[in-house]
Amino acid sequence: MAITGGCLCGAVRFKIEADAPLWVRQCWCRVCQYVGAGGATVNAMFRKNEVATSGPLTDYVSQADSGSTMHRRFCARCGTPMFTEAEPRPHLIGVRVGTLDDPNLAKPSAIIWTKSAPIWAFFDPDLPQTEGQPSAPPGAQGQRP
Ligand SMILES: [Zn+2]
Ligand SMILES: [Zn+2]
Repeated sequence: MAITGGCLCGAVRFKIEADAPLWVRQCWCRVCQYVGAGGATVNAMFRKNEVATSGPLTDYVSQADSGSTMHRRFCARCGTPMFTEAEPRPHLIGVRVGTLDDPNLAKPSAIIWTKSAPIWAFFDPDLPQTEGQPSAPPGAQGQRP
């Protein structure tokens, strides 16, 4: 089974050869508030070699609050945030969950960077929270059971 998705205008599409993400986290870091239009981003992690993309992507390179150099790719035509990649972890890719054809596939299991969130942010009390950058979760090496 494959997971599919794309941007708002349809110029960028992707196909992921996996049944499920390695993990899904909601991120309230300050950069994600720009990307997420005020809210958190929700990011589903996959092995990079599972993801095939087509269409025009623009890469915005910046430093994360964690210190890592990040590549954030968005549709060159409609601007939809699509992917996030950290240089220290080149085998992984984060997919913005709003781009999945079925966002129900990617329920967050943790909330990170809560200390950067605005005072009106709501955190699901059933999910573990981390104030800043968390340690790497199981699956961070990209292994699948
Ligand atoms: Zn687009
Ligand atoms: Zn973030």
